[in-house]
Amino acid sequence: MCGTGKFKVLWGLETSAACPRCGDFEDHLHIPRCRAALATAEWDRRTAAFSAWLDLQLTGPSIKIAILQLLQGVRTPPSFPPRPISSSVQPAFLAQQVIGSQGLLEGRIASSWLPLQQQYYDKIRCRRSVSLWASRLSQQLVLIGFYMWEQRNSVQHSDDNVQLRERHSTVNEGIHSQFDMGPDDLPKEIRPMLTCRRRVLRKSLVDKEEWLKLLCQERRDFRRSMKAQRRSLRTIFSPVP
Ligand SMILES: [Zn+2]
Repeated sequence: MCGTGKFKVLWGLETSAACPRCGDFEDHLHIPRCRAALATAEWDRRTAAFSAWLDLQLTGPSIKIAILQLLQGVRTPPSFPPRPISSSVQPAFLAQQVIGSQGLLEGRIASSWLPLQQQYYDKIRCRRSVSLWASRLSQQLVLIGFYMWEQRNSVQHSDDNVQLRERHSTVNEGIHSQFDMGPDDLPKEIRPMLTCRRRVLRKSLVDKEEWLKLLCQERRDFRRSMKAQRRSLRTIFSPVP
């Protein structure tokens, strides 16, 4: 996840490391932890689907509780007191905690889950392969991380992007103030740019920013040249002592 805000700033591609969904500092850990409503909805959808998948794969109930609790720990610090974990899965739970939450979303699962799941398969007289269960479990966890990253990217390029929303709001304010100031201190050839406020506000973000930059520059230059003209007129017509 090198395309996070943190790395984009390090590489000089962006000036802000803000998350496009919530505006907080964004590093790889923030991707699944983002508190924006859209990110929360995505996380809830993915974890609910994962929980159903665990059932479908006949995962041992205490293994399921433990893995879901570990997964929840990726997003929020472990709840205190934590939900009770069966003593039989405690060693695997602790081994997974050592691997860490990021490791979990990279599909790195502790080997100690396998004998536990095998015991459960034996108990229910299921002949499924526990290696296959572990391999698919790993893939499912990777997919959760992937979908969170995809969701973040979909916002990055949409109108829900916090930075883009801020840029729109800043440039719109600038456009309104240019129209409010009127065309008087602008060169004649530039004044038609202030004909229709609504048309300017409907332009794309980049076009609006270009429009505003040009207007500010022209107004500044025109005011400066008028001041210079007034100064030279004063010099010409001021009475000689
Ligand atoms: Zn965020």
